[in-house]
Amino acid sequence: MIIIMLGAPGTGKGTVAGILKDELGIPQISTGDIFRKHIKEQTELGKLADSYISKGQLVPDDVTIKLVQSRIQEDDVKPGMILDGFPRTVAQAEALDKMLSEQGKKVDLVVNLTTPKDEIIERIVNRRVCSNQECKAVYNLVMNPPKKEGICDKCGSPLVQRKDDTEETVNERFESYLKNTAPLVEYYENKGILRKEEVSKSINRLGKDVAEDIVKIFKK
Ligand code: ADP
Ligand code: ZN
Repeated sequence: MIIIMLGAPGTGKGTVAGILKDELGIPQISTGDIFRKHIKEQTELGKLADSYISKGQLVPDDVTIKLVQSRIQEDDVKPGMILDGFPRTVAQAEALDKMLSEQGKKVDLVVNLTTPKDEIIERIVNRRVCSNQECKAVYNLVMNPPKKEGICDKCGSPLVQRKDDTEETVNERFESYLKNTAPLVEYYENKGILRKEEVSKSINRLGKDVAEDIVKIFKK
């Protein structure tokens, strides 16, 4: 079972993917998380990725595709995976199709999350994430604050703000989404595997509701 999470920054791809990972028992592969780990460890890849991510730009396709190509060879993805933040360009989507078809596999479902832009900005600037790489819990200072300020409820580690979660960078990321990633909606719609989901407090639908509905499909 291969599921792709698609959507602009701050729509809740990571939240939905995290629930699906737990409920379906397959790994979540987040290219953003992998890049952030490399940045923290100051690897060569990390330095390169940081020069793009800090400006709200995409890491180049060749680098990102190579990274995913090696990750999806690993044993734990045999039963399936949830791709969170990849593909983000048509070139990445085509490369993914090619890699999967070489393994006799294909994408089963693409979940496209949409959220009004003002809500996205509010979410992103108030987002705080657990600094523990094994936990990665996500909080919102307004919607979903931790019980104790600055501390993760789940594991007690300090919460941090992502360096690219500022209002200026959000606008760059949003522009990049419209230009590079939005065309993937049509790409997957044409393949008949796209599921559209609006996530917004105005309709009282959150990421966890979307995740629950998807879990039901696969657990049937
Ligand atoms: P968000 O969806 O909130 O922007 P992510 O953690 O998915 O957060 O990504 C953070 C940043 O990492 C992106 O803005 C981009 O610079 C980089 N990145 C993540 N995935 C990709 C990808 N598939 N291709 C290129 N760059 C990526
Ligand atoms: Zn934690």
